[in-house]
Amino acid sequence: MKAIQAIRGMNDILPQDTPLWQHLESTTRALLESYGYEEIRTPILEKTELFSRSIGEVTDIVEKEMYSFADRNGDSLSLRPEYTASCVRAGIEHGLLFNAIRRLWYAGPMFRHERPQKGRYRQFYQIGAEAFGMGGPETDAELILLTARLWKRLGIEGLRLEINSLGSASARGAHRKELVAYLRDHFDELDEDSRRRLETNPLRILDSKNPAMQALVDKAPSLMDYLDEESRTHFQTVDEILRAAGIDFTVNSRLVRGLDYYNHTVFEWITDRLGAQGTVCGGGRYDGLVSQIGGKASPGVGFSLGCERVIALLQDSDIPIDRRHPDAYLVAVGENAARAAHPLAEALRDALPELHLIVDAGAGSFKAKMKRADRSVARMALVLGEDEMASGQIAIKPLRSGETQYGVAQENLAAQLQTML
Ligand code: ATP
Ligand code: MG
Repeated sequence: MKAIQAIRGMNDILPQDTPLWQHLESTTRALLESYGYEEIRTPILEKTELFSRSIGEVTDIVEKEMYSFADRNGDSLSLRPEYTASCVRAGIEHGLLFNAIRRLWYAGPMFRHERPQKGRYRQFYQIGAEAFGMGGPETDAELILLTARLWKRLGIEGLRLEINSLGSASARGAHRKELVAYLRDHFDELDEDSRRRLETNPLRILDSKNPAMQALVDKAPSLMDYLDEESRTHFQTVDEILRAAGIDFTVNSRLVRGLDYYNHTVFEWITDRLGAQGTVCGGGRYDGLVSQIGGKASPGVGFSLGCERVIALLQDSDIPIDRRHPDAYLVAVGENAARAAHPLAEALRDALPELHLIVDAGAGSFKAKMKRADRSVARMALVLGEDEMASGQIAIKPLRSGETQYGVAQENLAAQLQTML
């Protein structure tokens, strides 16, 4: 029969790589919690409308990347393409956001039907945080400082921080008018995507990756010039806090980000080491989103990092990750010993909850069993044979040092192991 393979763009993460993933997850979780963020977990499936209403009808995600389908009742559902909308939905539904300050974090798989390539998959993992009820620029800055500290903790160097302000809705409105007029004057030079966006989402044209469009985009009216006083002060404060904390960054006035819901600060952490998929983390403020999803207005700001891209950086920098090896590998020889092995192992686990112990299984000679013990990279083998069964002993054979094998009474084994661990 033909073997069945995974879906294109959806990866298996194999045992050789999971220690690195666990390292990323535990480091990030510990850091987020140390800043007061609490974990939230929401369903992977949501009503499609949640995403079309929040991310925006004319974004790439909603137009062509969502995994949407009708369920058995005919309701349109989608696998989440990002987490912010789910977070806001759950926050409203459970009254977490009303008149409240909330710091939330999440982790999990997202789904987008993009063209799979290095660093771009159809199922990918994000870890992110959302802060609600805090409208001040200090919170934007805090999230950026948190991410900067995360790179430091992970040992990742050379990431570049770019920030921008999308200002207020009215500033974007005034800018949009001028931008559309400018782009209309240069309609012949626009690529197909941009012509389509001209009517629906002209700001996204600034974000175009098409090299042929760069000169045109460079000369387009800059949103920075349209920021109102409040937006300017907000951005200025973020700028000052980052400088005071010693964070390097550049202001990129063309950074607009792929989702519609952002206002004020947006930011990205970028690397040159991963080719075209260089953004490892992105975020920004979204003060209108909570009311857009149906809650009472509450400011929000958040970020999300792409785990596969961060993992690729960790692999690229060869940062050593602790892999816990088994402490002991228990080998039983003969029928009596085989029956006694698991009860003995359980007694050891009762006495030593931290013990990493593998009990040998499978057929084969004593030699074959010892070969398996060696391959397990355990520190020692515990050998239970007919002789040991008769004498109430067990043999300890160190596997990683030249020491010779010796025997201890089974009833003293736990105490003996404790002195060794
Ligand atoms: P990009 O510009 O790379 O498409 P994006 O702006 O669509 O990114 P966000 O929606 O802001 O990305 O998601 C936050 C992070 O999630 C990104 O910075 C990236 O690291 C990661 N990410 C986004 N899409 C994918 C994907 N298809 N595969 C792997 N990682 C992804
Ligand atoms: Mg994208």
